[in-house]
Amino acid sequence: MEMSVVEIICKNCGIDTLLNREAIYDGFTKIGEKLICSSCGFEYPSEDEVPFKNKKVESPIFTEADLSSKIKVFNEGENKCICRYCASYTVNPFTQFCSLRNKEIQATDTCDQFEENKEKTDPIL
Ligand SMILES: [Zn+2]
Repeated sequence: MEMSVVEIICKNCGIDTLLNREAIYDGFTKIGEKLICSSCGFEYPSEDEVPFKNKKVESPIFTEADLSSKIKVFNEGENKCICRYCASYTVNPFTQFCSLRNKEIQATDTCDQFEENKEKTDPIL
């Protein structure tokens, strides 16, 4: 019989306490153990259900929802590298113009020299 002290936080009484193990005998043969809260006497049906105090809490894993929201954020960032969000993007009633490359462009164009426009608000909306 295991004699080590096992600390638990009882899920029945909520007390930070100890687990009592009581051997179960069939005649003279030990067939198992009762796992009992030493504070309230609650009996745990199996080792798996004992709320061991020092049990490692599993680190949270990313759910699919987390992953998809990350991907979404990434895509939004990508979409911002288009001419309409660029510092060199100039628009007037007749044309859209890149002041850097000195040519007519579309708002949805992309280019290597994209530089985020942090000052101007979206000129189209
Ligand atoms: Zn208890």
